[in-house]
Amino acid sequence: MTELAIVAQDVSRVYASGSGEISAIQDVTFEIESGQFVALRGRSGSGKTTLLNCLGGLDNPTRGKIWIYGDDISGLDETERTHWRRESIGFVFQQMGLMPSFSAYENLELMARLGGVPRRERKERILKNLEQVDLKDYYAHRPYEMSGGQQQRIAIARALVTSPRLILADEPTSELDSETTHMILAVLQSIVREEGVTILLSSHDPIVDEYADRIIHLRDGQIAESPEESRPAPQLAGMI
Ligand code: ADP
Ligand code: MG
Repeated sequence: MTELAIVAQDVSRVYASGSGEISAIQDVTFEIESGQFVALRGRSGSGKTTLLNCLGGLDNPTRGKIWIYGDDISGLDETERTHWRRESIGFVFQQMGLMPSFSAYENLELMARLGGVPRRERKERILKNLEQVDLKDYYAHRPYEMSGGQQQRIAIARALVTSPRLILADEPTSELDSETTHMILAVLQSIVREEGVTILLSSHDPIVDEYADRIIHLRDGQIAESPEESRPAPQLAGMI
């Protein structure tokens, strides 16, 4: 039987907003099998970031339950969740969040330290992870000495350094041009194939469909069966 990386059951997240409430995701239920590259697609505001934050323990759902590789993370308190997150999940964000005054190597080392990687294993792992994104020669470079695509590859290597079984990537390519986007998606796909990790990547860009094993559509905070209908351009609408 295939192992389940993610089980989300009736997950909702309501934000307090002024006098009212905003329901960012409602009753989201799905499962993701281990070792898959899954795209979470939806327009801006559809709830992608909210869902990823709940799955990765950065946020707590208002209702519902989440199991990550069998761990019921809904039951963890704040401190337990922070420990669990640092050791179990790799995050990649749109804004890569690299420490600007740290070299590529030091950025990975910081994450290794936070994630409890034993000191004697760190160097070997860091160099292996930099190799995986083809940037081993850049270990001493600081973020400003690299292109956007290279920085995002460093951020991916950093997400790998604790050997997480699940990587959550929130719009990691939306600041990049299309050629660089293809390269980043290919790197992520090869990591899924070679390491057997599970990646859930959010995007509003249809390019990701070419790389993902499966696509989950989010619309107005709910799982949708199919992508949103693309509307014909106004000048064509009258002709159809
Ligand atoms: P996406 O990542 O798909 O753009 P988000 O998860 O960021 O979507 O947002 C989903 C909805 O929740 C939006 O309507 C957004 O305005 C709202 N939202 C997100 N974060 C907050 C917050 N911290 N406080 C209030 N509303 C929020
Ligand atoms: Mg978002």
